[in-house]
Amino acid sequence: MSRVRTRFAPSPTGRMHVGNLRSALYEFLIAKHAGGDFMLRIEDTDQERFVEGAVEIIYHTLDAAGLVHDEGPDKDGGFGPYVQSERMKTGIYMKYAKELVDKGEAYYCFCDKERLESLRTEIVEGKEIMMYDKHCLSLSKEEIEANLAAGKPFVIRQNIPNEGTTTFHDELYGDITVENAELDDMILIKSDGYPTYNFANVVDDHTMGITHVVRGNEYLSSAPKYQRLYDAFGWESPVYIHLPLITDENHKKLSKRSGHSSFEDLLEQGFLSEAVVNYIALLGWSPEENREIFSLDELIREFDYHRISKSPAVFDYTKLKWMNGEYIKAMDFEKFYELAEPYLKKVITKDLDLRKIAAMVKTRIEVFPDIEGHIDFFEKLPEYDAAMYTHKKMKTNGETSLEVLREVLPILEAQEDFSNDALYAALLSYVEKKGVKNGYVMWPIRTAVSGKQMTPGGATELMEVLGKEESIARIRAGIALLEQSGSSN
Ligand code: GLU
Repeated sequence: MSRVRTRFAPSPTGRMHVGNLRSALYEFLIAKHAGGDFMLRIEDTDQERFVEGAVEIIYHTLDAAGLVHDEGPDKDGGFGPYVQSERMKTGIYMKYAKELVDKGEAYYCFCDKERLESLRTEIVEGKEIMMYDKHCLSLSKEEIEANLAAGKPFVIRQNIPNEGTTTFHDELYGDITVENAELDDMILIKSDGYPTYNFANVVDDHTMGITHVVRGNEYLSSAPKYQRLYDAFGWESPVYIHLPLITDENHKKLSKRSGHSSFEDLLEQGFLSEAVVNYIALLGWSPEENREIFSLDELIREFDYHRISKSPAVFDYTKLKWMNGEYIKAMDFEKFYELAEPYLKKVITKDLDLRKIAAMVKTRIEVFPDIEGHIDFFEKLPEYDAAMYTHKKMKTNGETSLEVLREVLPILEAQEDFSNDALYAALLSYVEKKGVKNGYVMWPIRTAVSGKQMTPGGATELMEVLGKEESIARIRAGIALLEQSGSSN
């Protein structure tokens, strides 16, 4: 077996779609699992689709996802150039196209736009496809020479016979056989001299020693044509793995409209790149054991591409959020704090201990923007309804709460040490003296200091952060609210 070499071959057309990142990840994992090479190749032959800044996005994405390439435009591994527009300048595509012309597997075509527009069209996968009628295949050598000498624009087309069949093998789909008559004589070299993706990917994968190709199954219909090119050259084709479509929860193709179809979208929404990578790994691949959390190193160890499934993968945003929460829980506190700080500062302008607040929310959020909703009450006591003091399980209501708040007020005022532990001890002795359950006392206090049903910490933890003055002011406000609502009588 030759050394395993895979490539990620994105076209610089914008943000990195989740489907592309999955291809990159699987290519990376296949190479690393086998101790092979993972290569980056930029496919920029379609100049019309080129988007400024998109190459930077590719580098940034691979870097953020931890998919370190062994070779690429910035890392020569002896198979360069790694950018197709630069490879074109070496004349490689024209050289191989001419080799096919000499073999009768390709031909020059000088048909103009008007003629092409008059040709038969077919609907393939919802798109109207023109089937070229091989008109220029019958040109004599002299006619071709004369056209070329006259500078007539031309393309080079693949010559696919009208009879017979072509078979190729895909790891997921098995052997696929198609009628040659259904295959169009696709363009290999365009009139601007650039190769088409369809031709360049074959020449490059072969000349760059690629052994495994992972890509979206939108390329499946072109694969027989690629196979014919490999056969025409007498080259061995790589192992093909065409991945199933990624759909949204409604089983529609994951599109920009979903709002989370690209890696950048997800990072902007506060997801951790490690969690996104972990989640994407499972979009079509399942490990042997029933487990879901994998670091990149663990994925490298476990990844067996034979376990990729061909059923459509559903992008489950809720599941990704859960997974992100797991990563946040497991994260080292210092790193968490660094990432959480901007979100904390967005809400809290007062001089409060942000590290303590961060520690409280760490286990409660799924994505960083969740922080806001958990901590807003620290900054300002929200308006709340006196009904919140009523809690069946804690056996509290407005009346019991008012009594408790009135009684704990002097205890808190006398309390010098406002640390969580000291406050807890002081309140516990009150609880014991009163002969009630903890919640009977803690529920009203927590309600008074937060004005919320759910808080990231208990009553005493919150008071420690709020400080004595603010806590007491809020207890007083609670008493006033309960008095007003008529709980005193
Ligand atoms: N340039 C193609 C794309 O971005 C690559 C497809 C492939 O991996 O062969 O979709």
